[in-house]
Amino acid sequence: MAKKQLIIPVFVPFGGCRHQCVFCDQEGITGKRALPPFETIAPTIENYLSTWKGTGHRELAFYGGSFTGLPMEAQKGYLEAARPYIESGKIDSVRISTRPDSIDAPTLGFLKSYGVKTIELGVQSMSDGVLKASGRGHTAEDTRRAASLIKDAGARLGLQIMPGLPGDTEAIILDTVDEAVSLSPGFVRIYPTLVLRNTPLFRMYERGEYRPWALEDMVRVCSEAMRRFARSGITVIRVGLQTTEDLSLNLVAGPYHPSFRQLLDTDRAL
Ligand code: SF4
Repeated sequence: MAKKQLIIPVFVPFGGCRHQCVFCDQEGITGKRALPPFETIAPTIENYLSTWKGTGHRELAFYGGSFTGLPMEAQKGYLEAARPYIESGKIDSVRISTRPDSIDAPTLGFLKSYGVKTIELGVQSMSDGVLKASGRGHTAEDTRRAASLIKDAGARLGLQIMPGLPGDTEAIILDTVDEAVSLSPGFVRIYPTLVLRNTPLFRMYERGEYRPWALEDMVRVCSEAMRRFARSGITVIRVGLQTTEDLSLNLVAGPYHPSFRQLLDTDRAL
């Protein structure tokens, strides 16, 4: 059966990051460090389109980093490279991910003019204490404000949350889930916190300042989060990091399971 939707992924690791969040090792997850040159965007799109036989929505997705935190010249360089494909109808839209404190009304107007229709916010937590302990450099209020601006601009809102960050508890993350529900996102991703090599969290773990959640605790909490999102008709499009060779090499500790989502389905069926 032909695929309904084509996602053309482009990774911009650490692109636009003003902070080093304690948990983040973009390179270790994606295996990529440098920002891709603008000239690679068109061949990447062509390559995906040439092998796709479907008829559904085709979207160019800039993953990783904080797209709207990149210098304006870089944002324009990437979006200009995509523009001919949007204008010719060869692709239908562009998706970006970014930080809540890198969104404002002029930025949203700029993105809209280039066919950006989906914006994913790295929320991680709605607890200011957890955000601070995790080196995020923004507050829960930044997320509320950004989510509301994105929806007012008519874009599709995606939210990413991370259970198990420093200072997090079951009660705190379930409050975050409830707040996320109240922001009415189009979809959600849940990434249980893992300790990856070359991150500040790894050093905290080595010093005994951070203890990762046990797998069974993470399964219980994520199952409850899934229930709450499902009750509100919100789709969870991903739970847990994708298994890659780079992730296997860099994973030090934490509630990782290659079939994490299946564990949740089993837990919820009990
Ligand atoms: S989580 Fe996002 S904002 Fe934080 S360092 Fe990683 S890419 Fe940058």
